[in-house]
Amino acid sequence: MNDAVWSTMDYTDTTWPLSYALFYSGLPDGSEYAEGITVMAYMKYSEVEKWKDSFNTVGKPSERSQQYDEFKKAKAEKLLDAVEIKFPGIRDCILNYYTSTPLTFRDYMRTDDGSVYGITKDYKDPLRTLISPRTKINNLFLTGQNINLHGILGVSISALVTCSVLIGLPEIIKKINDAQAE
Ligand SMILES: Cc1cc2nc3c(=O)[nH]c(=O)nc-3n(C[C@H](O)[C@H](O)[C@H](O)COP(=O)(O)OP(=O)(O)OC[C@H]3O[C@@H](n4cnc5c(N)ncnc54)[C@H](O)[C@@H]3O)c2cc1C
Repeated sequence: MNDAVWSTMDYTDTTWPLSYALFYSGLPDGSEYAEGITVMAYMKYSEVEKWKDSFNTVGKPSERSQQYDEFKKAKAEKLLDAVEIKFPGIRDCILNYYTSTPLTFRDYMRTDDGSVYGITKDYKDPLRTLISPRTKINNLFLTGQNINLHGILGVSISALVTCSVLIGLPEIIKKINDAQAE
């Protein structure tokens, strides 16, 4: 594990995972335990590139290969080893787990390289990585995480940015303020 959060994607086979994010949600009945958790760690596309010619979704299922399944299992077990350090005994509480890789995200979201959060933006050179909601094609506008920010809140803001191109920012702000006042 690594405390330097900005460089934990610079891992090697030996050092992976340098970080992970763990999410859980409570049960609807309000009890204190969770039934499932999600654990995410960085994975470079290059690690799965050898299976890039496969495609697998629930709607269009196909086996990527036994080798790919073994790769995923080895990764999952290594990730669980890391989680065990923080939550000893967690492995014994697991009935089943599912794994996904950049290929999963690629196939479902149609990103080129399985990126979770869209294109990489460069804060040192923002204009180079700016995608405008307005395009050169008449009546074609863009929205979503590549416009502004990733995440549920980010894409909601992107939607506002795109709408502002259509009807103007002051008009949108007025509508939001009016709705809040109601
Ligand atoms: C595993 C994971 C966990 C996440 N967790 C969180 C979280 O906890 N909180 C949070 O705020 N954000 C989270 N995010 C990020 C968040 O989901 C995204 O930032 C957000 O969904 C991006 O919205 P979007 O509308 O830009 O794109 P998407 O939600 O990806 O929607 C794009 C849609 O376009 C479709 N599409 C692509 N190409 C084509 C095509 N050629 N023809 C037709 N359809 C096409 C795709 O199938 C997809 O349905 C998570 C993302 C992932 C992958």
